[in-house]
Amino acid sequence: MTPIALITGANKGIGFATAQQLGARGATILAGARDATLGERAERDLRAAGVNATFVQIDVTDEASIASAAEWIGKEYGVLDILINNAGIARGDGDGRPSQTTLATLRTVYETNVFGVVAVTNAMLPLLRKAAAARIVNVSSEVGSIGSMTDPASPLYPMASVPYPSSKTALNMITAMYAKELRDTPIKVNAANPGYCATDLNGRHGFRTPEQGAAVSVHLATLPADGPTGQLWGHLWVAGAADEASADATGVLPW
Ligand code: NAP
Repeated sequence: MTPIALITGANKGIGFATAQQLGARGATILAGARDATLGERAERDLRAAGVNATFVQIDVTDEASIASAAEWIGKEYGVLDILINNAGIARGDGDGRPSQTTLATLRTVYETNVFGVVAVTNAMLPLLRKAAAARIVNVSSEVGSIGSMTDPASPLYPMASVPYPSSKTALNMITAMYAKELRDTPIKVNAANPGYCATDLNGRHGFRTPEQGAAVSVHLATLPADGPTGQLWGHLWVAGAADEASADATGVLPW
């Protein structure tokens, strides 16, 4: 039996690349997308690339769609080995400074990046518990790391914004708390830092590729039994590196 992997937001960007890479390693990919047309296109593209992929409609802000997806996966497979909470959005107000933030924007970002992850994880946990050794990967960010964002030596230090960074900080704590609850089970829960990747999320300004970002999620989704749980792991943005694009170091980041 090949591992069954659900990836939210798999129709493009890092999520699509994650589906490609996990699929190439033999996993059965449930390609989550909120839009049926985009999801079906992703399914076609993945299959054309030799991946055993099936589109699953899932809007992480819509509890009914989450429940339907969980029910369908349960009926079809009876188990879920890998959950990658990848869907995410970035929004800002005005010039992006904290003082410009509106509650409407904050709520919108939290609905997807924070509440959506808890809703999807709780809906999928009964299926994840049925797997021999499930892996949960929450796609977070270095900008959610309070340690990095407040370190004057960090390249991230100049950034000051509330909605997206604080949503990933909340996601980091959520990751740590699920890891704690599940520490006596074979399930591992980790947060991924893909690094700054060129995707629609940032107007394609990132200096890493979606494939490089996806490799971080794949690593955490395929951890061995003695691998870590409850960590933020991934790309390390090396301060002062001559060429950020070549700074491809990975490791544990501070929460
Ligand atoms: P992207 O290309 O914009 O992809 C985001 C994906 O999330 C899309 O498939 C999008 O679907 C989906 N999505 C958004 N809202 C959703 C919802 N309510 N329900 C289901 N799916 C939803 O961005 P990306 O860069 O690949 O982002 C993937 C993850 O990486 C995010 O969690 C992001 O925060 C994280 N991340 C990205 C970077 C970076 O530099 N790119 C860095 C650190 C972390 P639609 O096509 O329908 O909008």
